[in-house]
Amino acid sequence: MPATLSPFRLRPWFRTRIWGVRDLSPWYNYTVTGEPIGEVWLSGDDCLVDNGPLAGQRFAAVFAAHREALLGPGWTHAERFPLLMKVLFPKEKLSVQVHPGDAMAREAGEPHGKTECWYVLDATPDASVALGLKPGTTEEQMRAAIMNNGLEPLLHWMPVRKADMIFVDAGTIHAIGPGAVLLETQQNSDMTYRLYDYGRPRELHLTDGLKASRAVTRAGKVTPRPEDGGEVLVQSDYFRVDRFSVAAGERHSLSAAVPGLDATGCVQLVFAAQGSGSVQWDGGSLELSRGQLAVVPAAVGAWSFPATDAVELLRACPI
Ligand SMILES: [Zn+2]
Repeated sequence: MPATLSPFRLRPWFRTRIWGVRDLSPWYNYTVTGEPIGEVWLSGDDCLVDNGPLAGQRFAAVFAAHREALLGPGWTHAERFPLLMKVLFPKEKLSVQVHPGDAMAREAGEPHGKTECWYVLDATPDASVALGLKPGTTEEQMRAAIMNNGLEPLLHWMPVRKADMIFVDAGTIHAIGPGAVLLETQQNSDMTYRLYDYGRPRELHLTDGLKASRAVTRAGKVTPRPEDGGEVLVQSDYFRVDRFSVAAGERHSLSAAVPGLDATGCVQLVFAAQGSGSVQWDGGSLELSRGQLAVVPAAVGAWSFPATDAVELLRACPI
């Protein structure tokens, strides 16, 4: 076992979903003939380390053995790695759903609820998402619309464009329409209540879903804010996501101490949305290209990213 934990890539885990696609190009060189792929998990418990001395190990095992080196000293209470990143490939509408907040999740024996955000990697001109209900909609109207297969017109649909960041806090009724490719960053929780499925036969969870729903939330598009040579796309109670662009042949330097977060350093999940280059730190380097995720442990300290081709990086840190 290494004395220190170096940055490593995680192998993507391709998950079948009825609303997904069969060809993941140009993001991944991956096609299927059977059930479509809807989600590509980038930092799931079952994702395998792709390189280095821990290659082949499950991410959950790395977390269990190296929690402090990975997350830093402020996370001794963490029961699991705090963030899950995924790429979503919706070809059909996703069900209308809601996630519980921390309090309701804990009543059910889970460590925390699920707040999430979506960064739009690509979008067709008609791509849209739904956040919340139209103003003035009552719970009674919503229940009736669910029973009559007519919830869609009551939802607040909004168009999405490439490079939008959409924040979805726990308690927000939401849905994703077809046409966008989304990078989702979420609290690492499975708790989802499906309120409506357009008449598809999957199970609904109305009682829990209505209990978890809040009429007013902070969900919506977030305006980026320049900082630290990049842009803060979103900063919530649970995570912060930044974007960095690095021109071909240039180098961007980063620190373990992300501004506004734990000064002793925090783990950074680094996703290449386009281009390629490498994560370099005192002691090594790790290549990263489009669609791949690198985990930079808190213990690594300062690091930099020299770009081979013009690169766009998304970096997520737990809070
Ligand atoms: Zn969701």
